[in-house]
Formats: sequence, structure tokens, C-alpha cells
Amino acid sequence: MSRWFLVTTDHMLVVSFEPSTGWSAPEIKPYGPLSLDPMSSCFQYCTNLFEGMKAYMGPDGKPRLFRPDKNMARLARSAERVALPPFNTEALLTLIKRLVMIEKRWIPTAEGHSLYIRPTIIGTRAALGVAASDQALLYVILSPTGPYFRTGPKPLSLLAVNENVRAWPGGTGGHKLGLNYAPGFLPQRLAAKKGYDQILWLLGDAVTEAGAMNFFVVIKRDDEDGMDVVTPELDGTILPGVTRMSVLDLMQAHNEGRTSLNGLPKLHTQERKVTMSELQKLSEEGKLLEAYGVGTAVIVAPVGKVGFESGDLTLPAHEKGLGPVGNALWRRLVDIQEGRVQWENWGV
Ligand code: PMP
Repeated sequence: MSRWFLVTTDHMLVVSFEPSTGWSAPEIKPYGPLSLDPMSSCFQYCTNLFEGMKAYMGPDGKPRLFRPDKNMARLARSAERVALPPFNTEALLTLIKRLVMIEKRWIPTAEGHSLYIRPTIIGTRAALGVAASDQALLYVILSPTGPYFRTGPKPLSLLAVNENVRAWPGGTGGHKLGLNYAPGFLPQRLAAKKGYDQILWLLGDAVTEAGAMNFFVVIKRDDEDGMDVVTPELDGTILPGVTRMSVLDLMQAHNEGRTSLNGLPKLHTQERKVTMSELQKLSEEGKLLEAYGVGTAVIVAPVGKVGFESGDLTLPAHEKGLGPVGNALWRRLVDIQEGRVQWENWGV
């Protein structure tokens, strides 16, 4: 992923908030450094939050956003969690659309390429007292990106970790706050040294997320009536991913006969607790068919192996990297995002 996200486009959107005057008139101006007081709340107390979304160039030459209202709602929830001022989500989306149109020439047109959009809000109160920031800066920057996997999906190896935890009950894991990410960098570096691509974050024995992706497993059913597709429930320790929500919606539509995902049988979706012991047992019984991570960056990424204290868990290998369920979901999502398939009002 680090190959991308190095270059930004020419312009950025900036709006500031002052308690006496509210949000300023928005400005789209040349991309450049910000000037901030060293005491700023964001530097000292981590009043930082952001979103990750993409604009895709459609076959009709029109840029498309994918369910951007979901990102706006999540951004508003994140701001509320760290007591930053509320903002008008519809107005921000209108401004983002305008910025994307201005920067249209930066949207790569090749399949799997897009323009990554990073709306950010930071607390700018310049005082060392530990208190909510009553001043804020909202900005949006853009960066052209390509596919996470250059040569088609390649199974990821995950290291299951529970001595460090990403999120805990009553914590902030369900919000997209900068402070959720910094503590993961050292464990991620240690996992990389051991040869793993990403961490599978556990909470005790329970699986929560894979790196910065929501985690799914496909399980063989005893009654042979299709398959179970299971993901951890949104209990506050899981980021409510837009991709997670979208694959669940697509499987629901498939089960109700409103669409067909590659002619697959019924996909019984379950949002519930998933534990390592359950996964190990299922794997031993040959019932663990697929595992994958989902998110805006990867879309759907296959998991090939999970390293754990009581032994590695190996997932069945598939010719395309992704198994039948993961592959059908990936294909459908990419087709909707890139405007080849219309579905609900997801492409905006
Ligand atoms: N979990 C975490 C911790 C993330 O940072 C992300 C990326 N936003 C996701 C899951 C996936 O969310 P989305 O599908 O909205 O990109």
C-alpha cells in the first residue's frame, strides 16, 4: 500500500471553526503546509479524526463516489466522540464533490485505480490545559491510488495478537480516530519482522479486525444449504466499515433473489462473536472455507494463513487468490464502484 498515497493533487479544501463565528467560508486552495500553534490540541491530545473514501472514473467519463453519505455520517460520529464541533454533512459532501471535479484530471482511469479522498478534522485550540478543543480545522486532501494487489489478489498472512489490543469495550475502536492507529504501529512492525503481512487483532480469544480491514470467514454448513458467512458484530470494538456494510447488503440481496452473486448458493450472513478456538476447530474439521479482510483500500483481500500461539491456521488455497464467495463480492463491488453496474444508489 505504501507505493500509493505519496502524491497529492494540486488543491485542498479547508474550513476552520471558531467558537464565536462557527465554521468559516470554505476555501479550495493550492495544496500546501498548514501553520499551527505548537500547543494545538491535535498535537497534544490527539483530537484528530479522518475518513477514507475513493472517487472512481466511470466508463462514461464521470467521476463516482461510493456511498459517500456513509463516510460523512461516520466522520460526524468520530468528531462527536472527541467533542469537536458538529458540521453539516451534506454541505461537506457537496464541497468534496466540487473538489473532486476540480481535480478530475488526477483520477486514474485504469481498472482498480481511483482517487483516494482523505477528509480530516483536527482540534486547533492553542492551550495546554487538558480540555475539549473549541477550535477546529477541517480539510480534505486527495491522492491518486492503484490496486492494493498489483497482480491480482494474493493471500495475506495474519499474525493473531492479543498481548496488545486495538480496541476494547467502552473504548474508541468503533470510531475512525487517529488515536486508534498509532498504538498499532509497533505490533505491526514486529509482526512484519516475523514475516506476517498484517495483524489479526484479538480481544482475549475473540477476533476483532484484520489490520485496517473488517474480517469475514466462510463456513461449511452441516445441512449443505449454502454457506455461513460470519463477521464480528459491531459491539463498539469494531470499526463499522462501509465495505463491511456493503458486502453484507449484497449477500442479503443475493439471498432474497434481488441479485445473484455468481450463481452461488445461499449465503447465511451472521454478525456475531468469532473466536480463535472456533476457527481452529472449524479448520481441523475442514469447515473453514475462506477468510478475507474488507475495506476501502483492499476491497476484498484473501487471507491464506493465520499465525497463532497454538499453531498456524491455514486456509484452503484458491486459484484466483480469493475463494468463490470473496471473489464474487470483490467483482461485484468493483463493478459498482467503477460504474459498470448500477446498484441501489451506491454510485454517486
Ligand atoms: N477497520 C479499520 C480499523 C479501518 O481503518 C478501516 C478503513 N477505514 C476499515 C476497517 C474498513 O472500513 P471501510 O470499509 O469503511 O474502508
